[in-house]
Amino acid sequence: MNEVIDIAIVGGGPAGLTAALYGARARANTVVFESQLPGGAIITTDWIENYPGMPEGLNGSRIGELMHAHAEKFGARFHTFVRVERIREESGGFILSCDDGEEYPARTVILSTGSIPRKLGVPGEAEFTGRGVSWCATCDGALFRGKTVAVIGGGDAAVEEALFLTKFAEKVYLIHRRDELRATKCIQERAIANEKIELVLSRIPIEITGHEGRVSGVRLQSTAGEADQLLPLDGVFEFIGVHPNSELVSGLVDLSGAGWVKIDSSCMTSVPGLFAAGDVTDTPLKQVVTAAGQGATAAFEALRHVDSGVCTL
Ligand SMILES: Cc1cc2nc3c(=O)[nH]c(=O)nc-3n(C[C@H](O)[C@H](O)[C@H](O)COP(=O)(O)OP(=O)(O)OC[C@H]3O[C@@H](n4cnc5c(N)ncnc54)[C@H](O)[C@@H]3O)c2cc1C
Repeated sequence: MNEVIDIAIVGGGPAGLTAALYGARARANTVVFESQLPGGAIITTDWIENYPGMPEGLNGSRIGELMHAHAEKFGARFHTFVRVERIREESGGFILSCDDGEEYPARTVILSTGSIPRKLGVPGEAEFTGRGVSWCATCDGALFRGKTVAVIGGGDAAVEEALFLTKFAEKVYLIHRRDELRATKCIQERAIANEKIELVLSRIPIEITGHEGRVSGVRLQSTAGEADQLLPLDGVFEFIGVHPNSELVSGLVDLSGAGWVKIDSSCMTSVPGLFAAGDVTDTPLKQVVTAAGQGATAAFEALRHVDSGVCTL
């Protein structure tokens, strides 16, 4: 059995990395388990301009690197490319079983596993994933230089990613099921002013069509009683919301109907010693600033729990 960890953090996005900084800086034995590269969902976005203190904004990957380096500087340790597969309670603490074949005992756990993009679930989507269908403009945008693409969605992420795609694509359709966008007004204004972006409102994608193994178009149904429409294009980027990444604790902690982890004001779940922070929680605002704030709170409360001596591992 490995040494007992004070604060085991599952997920190294903004919530987990901030928790790691606060835990390690307080001299707790703090370990982050991250199944990919640390940084989380911000790695997939080009520009973050609403994190306080960065008026010019900063590249998402760079913010991830800085948060990772900051936590490491104060002594947080990382098990990178290690997925936590199971968490069970033992002796007032927890045992984490991971895909490296190891078990790690921990006095407290902070779950910061974030969320995963929601899919349209229409014909053609699975077939053309990676062949024109994408959920990451930063990763795949450059493949569409001079091409025509569609972004599906009307929230902040969709409109920001549509703006990013105009750096490469000749034309970007922004397709939304409602008759107006949901995004923050200042972001909407930028999209409306961009001549490469064309809004296609009150339309739902019902099929992604293909030709010779790649996306060739999207078939749209009107929500306003008009006829179906087939829009020829080369790529489809989906930003229609997210699902919680909470399977790991389902059956262990209380979840909302949609699967978000319920937490109290100290970021504690229904299981004492098991905290949650960031996008995986039932907090409505899913942003870097809220993830970081909850990560700090969860680490602070986890330290108090460690000091209470409840865990006898
Ligand atoms: C395209 C896009 C644009 C965005 N733009 C903005 C913006 O401009 N401003 C803003 O504030 N927010 C933005 N966001 C939202 C922001 O990225 C999230 O709110 C934030 O990343 C949430 O942080 P988190 O740490 O809770 O989760 P995440 O960042 O999702 O991190 C979760 C981490 O947990 C890891 N993980 C999951 N399960 C396991 C497991 N079992 N074992 C080990 N590791 C695991 C994942 O690999 C991931 O790295 C954007 C999001 C997207 C997708």
